[in-house]
Amino acid sequence: MEKIFNYINGELVAPENGQYLDNINPSTGKVYSLIPDSDKRDINNAVKSAKKAFPMWSSTSKQERSKILMKLADNIEKHFDKLVIAESKDNGKPESLASKVDIPRAPANIRFFAGAILHDSSNLHEMDGVAINYTLRQPIGVAACISPWNLPLYLLTWKIAPALASGNTVVAKPSEITPMTAYLFSKICIESGLPKGVLNIVHGLGSKVGDPLTTHKDTPIVSFTGGTVTGKHIATVTAPMFKKLSLELGGKNPNIIFADADFDKAVSIASRAAFTNQGQICLCGSRIFIEEKIYNKFRDALIAKASKLIVGDPKDPKTNLGAVVSKDHMNKILSKIDEAKKMGGKILLGGERNLLEGELKEGYYIKPTIIEGLDYNCSINQEEIFGPVVSIIPFKTEEEVINMANSTKYGLSASIFTENVSKAHRVAAKIDSGVIWINTWLLRDLRIPFGGMKSSGLGREGGFKSLDFFTEPKNICVKI
Ligand code: NAD
Repeated sequence: MEKIFNYINGELVAPENGQYLDNINPSTGKVYSLIPDSDKRDINNAVKSAKKAFPMWSSTSKQERSKILMKLADNIEKHFDKLVIAESKDNGKPESLASKVDIPRAPANIRFFAGAILHDSSNLHEMDGVAINYTLRQPIGVAACISPWNLPLYLLTWKIAPALASGNTVVAKPSEITPMTAYLFSKICIESGLPKGVLNIVHGLGSKVGDPLTTHKDTPIVSFTGGTVTGKHIATVTAPMFKKLSLELGGKNPNIIFADADFDKAVSIASRAAFTNQGQICLCGSRIFIEEKIYNKFRDALIAKASKLIVGDPKDPKTNLGAVVSKDHMNKILSKIDEAKKMGGKILLGGERNLLEGELKEGYYIKPTIIEGLDYNCSINQEEIFGPVVSIIPFKTEEEVINMANSTKYGLSASIFTENVSKAHRVAAKIDSGVIWINTWLLRDLRIPFGGMKSSGLGREGGFKSLDFFTEPKNICVKI
């Protein structure tokens, strides 16, 4: 059975304790590879190697860093097909999705930041002929980059690219549930000649690997994407150490459909926003608010649209939804559906496991599920489920829907559908979310500030915001 290794000081190495965890293919429910069950010793080795590489890498010219990162991006593309198959097998998502979204975004992330450092500039503040202030932005040291399982290579590269481009060295910890593409990426780093120690990847559990990484005295920057509960824990343990911290956390994102929206477009996008990646994207629209005047018509059209989605073999190009990521996660989603039923929610579509045949019969498939009749304030409409489950809720007025949309503790993203430009801008300004789309969803420009308000996160990543995060500003005042 294939064994995954840690990537430390430029080499693929076994965990110090020699222990491994099972890695399961969610589409079959079968173990297919082994993941290092690393611990503090592996983190110490990785941080030591990153710390040693920092003086060399931070003083490497931006041109040279950019050139090396561009080569990494080219080599990801060289292994494109292999990475698509690996991401799908590890995560359960359709290969067609991995080939359109996950894997293309990895080299795009790297090229974006490799280019950005060459076009960056710093500030100068003049004091009326008395003095000038200029601001240097300098790399900080070893960055701890922790990523989740839903978009494994996409989110890993979204963090390490700006960290490395800015001149920091990195210890990354991918999710233990989806480690494979990070492992393949470490081989690509070796193939691309990334200097030893610049990037280190340690696999294993959050408690045994994530905790010693975030609390290590030599990791002054922590960039985390994952659940709100984990984010809260990381904020608590790193605060007394005064680390620079970026948190990209969960969401319970509203899709607001006004009666004057382009109907077909709104139905189609709301369905995509609810069910893409089996509903396991932090930006998925899991609450659809529909203006009362078109509620019945929209509901019926959404059911018709979603009932055509094919849940099945991730390898089949016709498949729309593959498996959810793990058995535990499948059971959690199914228990939330039961809870919704107990609260009086009406299941309009799906609501159960999708049992397939042959080698897929133990796989973790859930039918796209639409629920109506639940109060906007109940736990199902307040807590993130992170599966192919969407709740539909009618509204009468603009004021009412803004209130309902803002009622959760989250504030990551929102979509608004209307043909009335003034209304679109008015509502967008009042929704408490870091990212708002009008008449679209998941249209990403890598330059924008990306992140959430309230319990959806702390700080922003994306574009020059990421380069700001991974550098320390230093003001220098020169008396004239
Ligand atoms: P998770 O919080 O369980 O795990 C995320 C990562 O943190 C994993 O690598 C995990 O091993 C690690 N971890 C766990 N405990 C840790 C600890 N004590 N210290 C340090 N690291 C620890 O999240 P998940 O289930 O992998 O991902 C799903 C969540 O991520 C959802 O809530 C989703 O909304 C969120 N997410 C947010 C964004 C965003 O950009 N805001 C993007 C993707 C996913």
